[in-house]
Amino acid sequence: MLDKDIKSMTCAEIAGLCSSLGLPSYRAGQIFEWLQKRGAMSYDEMTNIPLSLRKELSVKHPIRSCSIELKQVSRIDGTVKYLFRLSDGNFVESVLMKYKYGYSLCVSSQVGCKMGCSFCASTKNGCVRSLLASEILGQIHAAQRDMDVRVSHVVMMGMGEPLDNFDNTLRFLELVGDDKGLNISLRNISVSTCGLVPGIYRLMDSGFPITLSVSLHAPNDELRSQIMPVNKRYPLAQLIKACKEYTDRTSRRISFEYAMIKGVNDSDTCARELSRLLRGMLCHVNLIPANEISESSHKRSTADRLKIFSSILMNEGINVTVRRSLGSDIDASCGQLRNRHKKENAKKEAIT
Ligand code: SAH
Repeated sequence: MLDKDIKSMTCAEIAGLCSSLGLPSYRAGQIFEWLQKRGAMSYDEMTNIPLSLRKELSVKHPIRSCSIELKQVSRIDGTVKYLFRLSDGNFVESVLMKYKYGYSLCVSSQVGCKMGCSFCASTKNGCVRSLLASEILGQIHAAQRDMDVRVSHVVMMGMGEPLDNFDNTLRFLELVGDDKGLNISLRNISVSTCGLVPGIYRLMDSGFPITLSVSLHAPNDELRSQIMPVNKRYPLAQLIKACKEYTDRTSRRISFEYAMIKGVNDSDTCARELSRLLRGMLCHVNLIPANEISESSHKRSTADRLKIFSSILMNEGINVTVRRSLGSDIDASCGQLRNRHKKENAKKEAIT
């Protein structure tokens, strides 16, 4: 796959392609910059490349598209939610958020997801396919172009499980940090996983200085296995061991995501259990009031519950923040917009 999809190639690989086509080596840098830095959607944009070569490349190495199918802008905080259409007609979602430090884009890594978490809309219809590196990058390019802004931070917390699409995720990280490309500091990139332990080890071996986020959501195996099937394969003892090794080897703090679901994982007992589990670790807990989705009966915890839960963690010496919820008036929780779009289209097709 990698040798065909030109926007997933490194500059060195494009140089190899250029030499096989008998082209001067400086062409590689030009093409790479058009694709990676400027996010060219078509060879027609590459005005410093001869027309004949543009034609040849567009036949041999078509650029995969990522175009805006739907866009919702939050009236409350300006958060923008995109539904992107990929070359093969599949859809993925991204969310652009504005912070004091700049723009952060939440990107998808797969069309759907096969992890089966009970509270998550992305996984309800399984995983259609993984995204190529170019399609993850394409979401950044499309959002930047649309809003005329520079994205400085990326979180891989959209649809899909990045570590279930390991090679393309790694290639994405390699390309997104390239100084001839988007040049986004890897320190500003978070990779979020539901806990695929072998992937966590591979990620630490890669040496990329990203931030690792682990979606924990429960402090014991019994509860975690109920809401996150991945826990049956990689129970907490294995997951926490991998996380400890990650912080030991990288000296980087892990961020644990914990979606607060009413009556499920938000009791005082859960808070104390969570503190015991994480005690002494270089980590940070992000409490997220669960987004209520039509695909699940889970309800979000009350503000009071969140306060009590976080104060228990704090008293136990655990770093904790309650995540500000952005875009609550648009379907900003990933997976919802795509599911709704699919349903509405199915209805339309049934009528026509
Ligand atoms: N598969 C990866 C990344 C995608 S999900 C992972 O599991 O980390 C991004 C984050 O949103 C995860 O922490 C996920 O558990 C959380 N999430 C999914 N559905 C949610 C919901 N309804 N409310 C709050 N958080 C949710």
